[in-house]
Amino acid sequence: MSSNKDISGLTLEELRAYFENIGEPGFRAEQAYLWLFKRGELDFERWTDFPRALRDRLSELFGPRRLDLYGRLKSKDGTEKLVFKLHDGVIIETVLIPTGERATVCLSSQAGCKFRCVFCASGLDGFKHDLTAGEIVGQVLAVRGATGLIPTNIVVMGMGEPLDNFYNLEKALRILNDRRGLGLAARRMTVSTAGHIPGIERFAKLGLQVNLSLSLHAVTEKLRSDLMPINRKYPLKDLLAACERFVQGGGRKMTCEYILIRGVNDSAADAEGLAEISKKLWAKVNLISYSPVLGLSYQTPTRGEVEAFKRRLETRGIPVTLRRSQGADILAACGQLAGRV
Ligand code: SF4
Repeated sequence: MSSNKDISGLTLEELRAYFENIGEPGFRAEQAYLWLFKRGELDFERWTDFPRALRDRLSELFGPRRLDLYGRLKSKDGTEKLVFKLHDGVIIETVLIPTGERATVCLSSQAGCKFRCVFCASGLDGFKHDLTAGEIVGQVLAVRGATGLIPTNIVVMGMGEPLDNFYNLEKALRILNDRRGLGLAARRMTVSTAGHIPGIERFAKLGLQVNLSLSLHAVTEKLRSDLMPINRKYPLKDLLAACERFVQGGGRKMTCEYILIRGVNDSAADAEGLAEISKKLWAKVNLISYSPVLGLSYQTPTRGEVEAFKRRLETRGIPVTLRRSQGADILAACGQLAGRV
């Protein structure tokens, strides 16, 4: 227990065991969950129904908080990027996307990324480390603390490959899902993978109805390996077979994310290939127009080119959402999170 100094990374059962171990009644765990998740109160000093000695003890063991808000930027479209400094000085980024009734938080799962997709900023400075469950859940609490908005949806699409940090991801999802805490419905949470086959297989057995989204971005082995080196380890053919098993096994729907890069993956043949794959997986397609990354020379397609690609999919009966990648002006859009100050 003492190695995990982040209270928001503990399941209610772990917290109960902690309190019982120090001679406190187990119900303190429910009280703590109320303060943390229902009231969003991270300062133990304000946990007024806890005896003073216990508050001091909690501060000693679990404080100071490990996620320091280091900076924040607000886009003209309302999207907000929050930059956090971890206990070891490493920077991670979290994005809040408010749309109508929804407040979607895009979480990072790793500091940096080892998969180095060529269009993405997150891998540019290499991989630092996995985030703990507390650092993943902590982003949700910190966003709420900073903005006052209670997150309604979670997407794990920020820095890192979530399925490469499975243990912490799973724990974080279970904590966020716990009705005694934040109680985020599993169907309001989406995990995105670049194509980590063993992770998809474990994810299928999770027993939680969390959505899975595949960052596809290319429909041939050659182009996908060029754009996303993970494809050399887990080729498209095997990846699609794993996704088919996922869909058939659990009856869960998938989404294919496709970042449209001008002159790279936006041809008629690409649209054809994408339609084929989506049909096979019963998946809808999220089209995202590429957002520029400093130091990379890829180009954003014009609105007309994006529309034409979308129409090609729709005429083949594929449900398509055109996701105008939000927050591009503050480098908070898909593929732009670099973890730099
Ligand atoms: S797209 Fe995902 S897997 Fe690829 S480098 Fe970026 S964060 Fe990593």
